[in-house]
Amino acid sequence: MSESGRRKLVALLGLGGSLAPLAVCFAQVPHRPAHIYSRDDALYVAFRQGYNKRLNPAPKYIAVCRSEDHIRQALQLAREEGLKVAVRSGGHCFEGFSNNDGGLVVNVSQMKRIQWLDAETVRIEVGCTLREIQAALFPRRRLLPSGSCGSVGIAGLTLGGGYGFFSRKHGLTCDSLLSLRMVAPNGSVVDGLEDPELLWACKGGGNGNFGVVSSLCFKTQALPPHFDSHVLKFRKLDVGRFEQILRTWFSLSGRLPPHGFGAFVLNGRTLTVLVTGYEAGPELSQLVAPLRAMADSAESTLQADLPTAMRRYHGRPGPINFKNASAGMFSGLEEVLRVLQPLFDQLVSHPGIVFQINTLGGRIADPGFEQASCFPHRHLPYLGELQAYWEHDAAAPGLMRAFDAIQALFRDSGVSAHYANYPDIGFAHWEQSYYGVNYVRLQQVKRRYDPDDLLHHPQSIRLPASP
Ligand SMILES: Cc1cc2nc3c(=O)[nH]c(=O)nc-3n(C[C@H](O)[C@H](O)[C@H](O)COP(=O)(O)OP(=O)(O)OC[C@H]3O[C@@H](n4cnc5c(N)ncnc54)[C@H](O)[C@@H]3O)c2cc1C
Repeated sequence: MSESGRRKLVALLGLGGSLAPLAVCFAQVPHRPAHIYSRDDALYVAFRQGYNKRLNPAPKYIAVCRSEDHIRQALQLAREEGLKVAVRSGGHCFEGFSNNDGGLVVNVSQMKRIQWLDAETVRIEVGCTLREIQAALFPRRRLLPSGSCGSVGIAGLTLGGGYGFFSRKHGLTCDSLLSLRMVAPNGSVVDGLEDPELLWACKGGGNGNFGVVSSLCFKTQALPPHFDSHVLKFRKLDVGRFEQILRTWFSLSGRLPPHGFGAFVLNGRTLTVLVTGYEAGPELSQLVAPLRAMADSAESTLQADLPTAMRRYHGRPGPINFKNASAGMFSGLEEVLRVLQPLFDQLVSHPGIVFQINTLGGRIADPGFEQASCFPHRHLPYLGELQAYWEHDAAAPGLMRAFDAIQALFRDSGVSAHYANYPDIGFAHWEQSYYGVNYVRLQQVKRRYDPDDLLHHPQSIRLPASP
């Protein structure tokens, strides 16, 4: 951000002319207490359940916080009782890192204020879901480039990166983040404008690592007038046809315009290809034409009202049984070709497992965004995602074995870059996989804000070995 931009934002945020720290210490904790639930409270169960039914650990306390003061009280209690802290906003973490066993969960899901600072800048409290943000922004014809699933929390999504239909044109959600407020483990409140290093670290590496983020300040974009989507279906695939379509999809997705997005989803022997865009012109239809010629069915929709189009992608209500994870960030076709036959065999013999590739690229690779954030791997324009879903618990062990076998295929073929918001507890070298060379710098931020490792989950940033 330029110095003049920074000054303007400081004024908008009401911080006055100087960047005086907003530190507030534990001694100033006010009277209205946070709601702290323990295992015998009726509401404990309701606040414990996340989106994933597979994971349901039991913390000692769940602190439902509605303000920064509440967050401070909760952190103080954790310190007094020597409990590790997890932070929960939308509760969609693939591996349940927003919950813990025997510790304290700071649940900020009820912090839902949205405040406009000017016509384009909005401050959003961390309990808001993507659906709630769309409901607040769309009537003003504004857009926050983010994910599509309505119940995902803005906090977890942004702090880990955040991509979706609009990222190739505007960057990741964290690239729209101008500032944030965070309650540090010692109870002080920090504004991201005071500490550019913290802001850098929270753009891709802020998930349950340094403190409890309480609000996020974003630049928004003009809402595009329409949404164009092409859904192509390919059925009863064998590996030969799968390869042919895969090659064609990679070729066309490499030529997507900046407003374009593509997804390639193999579920058993059925493949669905989605190509979307939101700017005028025939280019998407022309681009899709070779694939359309190969498809068993095709549906093209030009939705004149973008908010209505977005509702179609809000996803299913939870909680559900699933395991999802990054299957790798890819440079292109090559990474998938290397494992093509065994990948296809695993997928068709394990109904319930889905392999998806999403397009990244475009402005995500902007050098300015790269410098301003710890989100690495921006040069890799594809994101692989493995998903497993089941109704009955008996199906889970077989699916988990197949899931791990597919992850091993990619790992053994040299894929090592992964998206931190799509974690897998099985990644052996998650530090480099999620953060690349930025991990060591993130450790320094961890030491500065959380020297006692109060905030901790199985893949949280570790304290550096020595000062
Ligand atoms: C159905 C579904 C659809 C998804 N779609 C997309 C998508 O389109 N694009 C995309 O990029 N990702 C997507 N994701 C992944 C999503 O970005 C991550 O799961 C994200 O971390 C969820 O955030 P949350 O607040 O809902 O989850 P939570 O489980 O509450 O939190 C996730 C992580 O962030 C930390 N955290 C949460 N709040 C705070 C806070 N206030 N301060 C500090 N740390 C905090 C938690 O400790 C945890 O480590 C999807 C996930 C699901 C389950």
